[in-house]
Amino acid sequence: MAEAECPECASPISIAANTEVGEILSCPDCGTRLEVRSVTPPKLEKAPGVEEDWGE
Ligand SMILES: [Zn+2]
Repeated sequence: MAEAECPECASPISIAANTEVGEILSCPDCGTRLEVRSVTPPKLEKAPGVEEDWGE
């Protein structure tokens, strides 16, 4: 299992081995939606366009 860093709050985020590029993860610390840009090496970016789910 690899570890990436949240670009928003710098918290370490575990990347499961079966994670795929393009998957959306949520930072457990700040809740930011993060898109997996690369698995090896692990790289996360804020998911474009989506801020928060303020209910629908
Ligand atoms: Zn974060």
